[in-house]
Amino acid sequence: MRRAIKLLLLCLVVVGIAWGLMRLGGVVEVRVGDTFIGLSLPVLLILLVVLFTVLHLLLVAWRALVNWPARARAKREARNREKGEAALTRALVSMAAGAPEAARGEVMRARRLMGDNPQLLLLTAEAERMAGQEAAATEAFQALAKREDARFIGLRGLLRQAIQRQDWPAAQQLAREAEAARPGTTWLREERAMLALRTQDWREALTLAPADTPRASLALAAAQQEPEPARAADYEKQAFQADPAFAPATVAHAARLAAAGSTRKARSVLEQGWRAAPHPDIAQAYLEGEADPLARVKLAEALVAENRTHAESRLLLARLALLAGLTGRARSELEALVESGEADARAYLLLVDLEQAEHGEGPVFRTAEAKWLRAATSARPEPRWRCGHCGKTHAAWKPVCDQCNTPGRIAWG
Ligand SMILES: [Zn+2]
Repeated sequence: MRRAIKLLLLCLVVVGIAWGLMRLGGVVEVRVGDTFIGLSLPVLLILLVVLFTVLHLLLVAWRALVNWPARARAKREARNREKGEAALTRALVSMAAGAPEAARGEVMRARRLMGDNPQLLLLTAEAERMAGQEAAATEAFQALAKREDARFIGLRGLLRQAIQRQDWPAAQQLAREAEAARPGTTWLREERAMLALRTQDWREALTLAPADTPRASLALAAAQQEPEPARAADYEKQAFQADPAFAPATVAHAARLAAAGSTRKARSVLEQGWRAAPHPDIAQAYLEGEADPLARVKLAEALVAENRTHAESRLLLARLALLAGLTGRARSELEALVESGEADARAYLLLVDLEQAEHGEGPVFRTAEAKWLRAATSARPEPRWRCGHCGKTHAAWKPVCDQCNTPGRIAWG
């Protein structure tokens, strides 16, 4: 309604002006050389309006002609996009239905129609992987990795492939590149920690290990790998502080302190280790350098003082007492150990030695020997460093089992 009123008002104004001009009258003269043209004002105005309209129409037609190819292209692209999206949907359905060959065909069609974009490249890689075409999948991941906007996705795919074919150095390199492309990703941190274990890069494994990981063995492994003595000492200290019950770290830390001249500190470390978890290696390190059998018994008493009733403490004292000729002392320790029910085969074999020392070769010894050997065969075997994965026993602790190559599974027991 308002528009109609506006239009009506406009018409009235135009008619008014035209009527005014008609009333006004007048002639416009154009003189070219001797030729003289005279036009009345209304006619001239009508001619100007006609000329303006013709020029306007010509301009519109020209613009339409110039824009025609671009419009045709846009139309074609819109059509292709529509077809491409339909192919993409069919590809997703095929993948969900577990038909990788059909999915590959549809993804290829979609790429032809829409060109390469990150989504299509990723889908290509996944379809190729499903179809078992790892090389083609690699190509798609590499194309993704070359794009600034999808680099991380490409590297992630290549990393997964490298892990799958157990190419650990390549996987580690890819993980580093992915970390640079997108730092601080939790998933990537976990993958890198796993790779560090696989490639036995203990320093990196220690840095990347989650907070709840036992760090002592990793730190000791890093120390063994570290060529710089000061840094190695630091790792050993870290290992000991992380778990004083981990005997190899205790012994290594104490040895480093002793080598630096801090004998008292070294002893104190070994005593702390024994208090946390007695281990024969700690005793060996503590008694090293002391040859006199009686002095060795005295030294061992100092070591075990704060964990006196532990089976290892009793066993150590019994063995040293026997070597020093203190058979009564050895017997009291061993009997207490047998009574506690914690004696293993070592205790019974030591009892055989004790019987021999006390009674010499004779019928009394023979009877006792038979008794203790029987007990030894049914007792627990002596503890060893054993791989929790394959069960192989090792003479000393190692970060990796040399039989099954599993890291971090060798434990005392
Ligand atoms: Zn193993």
